[in-house]
Amino acid sequence: MTAQVSKNGAGLNGVKLDAPIFDPIAFRLSDEQAAIIARARELGQSVFAQRATAYDREATFPTENYRDLHRAGLLGISIPKAHGGLGADYQTYALAAAEIGRYCGATALTWNMHVCSTLWSGPLADDLDMDAQTRTEHERRRAIHYKRIVEDGAIYSQPFSEGGAAAAGGVAFGTEAKPVKGGWVVNGKKIFASLSGHADYYGVLCTEIAEGEKASRRNTLYLALPAGADGVSVVGDWDPLGMRGTVSRTLLFKDVFVDEGAALMPRGVYFQAAQRWPHMFLTLSPTYMGLAQAAYDFTVRYLRGEMPGTPPVKRRMYPTKQIAVAQMQIKLEQIKAIWFQAITEACANPSKEQVLRAYAAQYSVMEGANEIATLAIRTCGGQAMLKSLPLERIYRDSRCGSLMLPWTAELCLDRIGREALYEAGETDD
Ligand SMILES: Cc1cc2nc3c(=O)[nH]c(=O)nc-3n(C[C@H](O)[C@H](O)[C@H](O)COP(=O)(O)OP(=O)(O)OC[C@H]3O[C@@H](n4cnc5c(N)ncnc54)[C@H](O)[C@@H]3O)c2cc1C
Repeated sequence: MTAQVSKNGAGLNGVKLDAPIFDPIAFRLSDEQAAIIARARELGQSVFAQRATAYDREATFPTENYRDLHRAGLLGISIPKAHGGLGADYQTYALAAAEIGRYCGATALTWNMHVCSTLWSGPLADDLDMDAQTRTEHERRRAIHYKRIVEDGAIYSQPFSEGGAAAAGGVAFGTEAKPVKGGWVVNGKKIFASLSGHADYYGVLCTEIAEGEKASRRNTLYLALPAGADGVSVVGDWDPLGMRGTVSRTLLFKDVFVDEGAALMPRGVYFQAAQRWPHMFLTLSPTYMGLAQAAYDFTVRYLRGEMPGTPPVKRRMYPTKQIAVAQMQIKLEQIKAIWFQAITEACANPSKEQVLRAYAAQYSVMEGANEIATLAIRTCGGQAMLKSLPLERIYRDSRCGSLMLPWTAELCLDRIGREALYEAGETDD
């Protein structure tokens, strides 16, 4: 499947398209990468941007956007070409996701949960150690998931948060999978489960545990539970500050049987991935890279008197506003630079410097997006933060980035400080 892009710079509804966040020539992207990223930008700007207000206001899931993502081949962006996907690597996916996040944060964030089920079981798993038989089994099983996505438009989510220390990587997941003949029986609870009630499969991180065994992080399983399976329920409401369209309610699993084909990764491989492929947790950042750009774009347009739906009043002649825009532009370029480097060097067994940079990139994007949005509101003024315009949504959505486990802003600071000062295994005793 190939992504098609308009040739004349006009989007799907005749909308004049924005320039890409990362210019393909300046950032040395291939034509194939540029085409996939442009497709995401075109869909985001021409279609998703108009729908974003309603999803946010009503805290409803962007179902229509998912139909469009499927039609555009973007549900399978990171599925290998041999399985009918676009075969995008980590960097290409991250750049495309940033373009979606620029126009609808909730769509980009939930799309990330979906895409990660293919990215982690795909290119990332290909980098990890498995014996030949395990790899053959994995290849057979992931083909089942890829076929559902490419052919039927199946949507996957990624609930791992439980409200305890597991999502931060501290202890084993409390959701348990008991091995039984032909599969597992799953019991547990996931909070903040984006796409709850809307995904077709919940990609649940859980601990495989036989009767009488002690829970261990090494035994983490990554299982796709059908949303309609007996024993799966969605409870609680969802009325948050931002990212309202993610519909991140609570999932309960009561004696849910899944067969062995549900495994998105073989035994032991998720634990290996978390140790050896740490950039897997940087995948929540592209959405917020897009939001940072969106807040900047809004400000320039608004101060030039070119914001659709507002009177053509220019405010750009005031030196204070020019300085604020300069500060925003500098911040944006700083975020772009470190983030582009981090997503470009993502790999198995990164060096210590690369890991510290990944934490720093995550921190810079998550905190920086909200700093830029805050400055945008102060600079543009009261009329700019009315709900008829997207800035206040961008501001609220951007505030949520720092809260995403396991790499929250606090935990990034924590890890950078500790890992910069201590080598592995070092103590002060
Ligand atoms: C819009 C949105 C969508 C989400 N979607 C998903 C999803 O699809 N799947 C999913 O699994 N989760 C999702 N999450 C959940 C997210 O990762 C958190 O689990 C969630 O914000 C709840 O965190 P908490 O209050 O339980 O954090 P707590 O564990 O109570 O921690 C509170 C804060 O303390 C800090 N902290 C936590 N542990 C430590 C530690 N060991 N050392 C030092 N500091 C620590 C962190 O900074 C954290 O933000 C989503 C969250 C949001 C806001």
